[in-house]
Amino acid sequence: MRAIIYSCPLMKLRVGLGFDSHPFEKGKPLKLGGILIDFPMGLKGHSDGDALLHAVADALLGAVGEPDIGELFPDTDPRWKDVDSVLFLKEALRRVREKGYRLLNLDCVILADQPKIAPYKDSIRKSLSELLELPVECISVKGKRREGFCQEEGLACLCTLLLVHEG
Ligand code: MG
Repeated sequence: MRAIIYSCPLMKLRVGLGFDSHPFEKGKPLKLGGILIDFPMGLKGHSDGDALLHAVADALLGAVGEPDIGELFPDTDPRWKDVDSVLFLKEALRRVREKGYRLLNLDCVILADQPKIAPYKDSIRKSLSELLELPVECISVKGKRREGFCQEEGLACLCTLLLVHEG
C-alpha cells in the first residue's frame, strides 16, 4: 500500500491556500497584485499593504511547508516598513523553486465592495503573470462584493494555487 501511494504521480503536486485582509487608510496609494488602483484610500499595513501579493506569497510558502510572510518579514522589523510587497512574493517564489517546484496555476478572489475590481482584472492578471513568470491563461482574478458585510472598511484577498515537482 505504501509503495502504491509513493509511486502515484499526484504525490508530485502541492496545493497552496492564501488569505489576507487589510483596513483602508486615507492618503495611501492602493496597490493590488503589484499595480496601482485609482482610489482615494490605500491599505493600512507595515509594508505597501498589497493584500493580494501577501495572499499569493503565503499560498506559495504554505504549499511547500515554509513559514508564512508574517514570520519571514515581521511587521516589527523596520527593514520591511513601506517595502514593495513584490519583495515578499519573489522570496516565496525563490523558496518554491529551491525545493524543485513549479507553479501551474493561480486562482484569486478579491473581496471588496469598493473599489470596483472588474476594470483592473486584466492588468492585475498581467502583473501577476510577469511577477510569477506564469502564462496569463493560468491566472484568474475575480472581484466579489460582500453585499454589505464589513462594507467600506477594507478588503480581503483569497487565492489557491497548484505546484508540481519538476524532479
Ligand atoms: Mg498583509
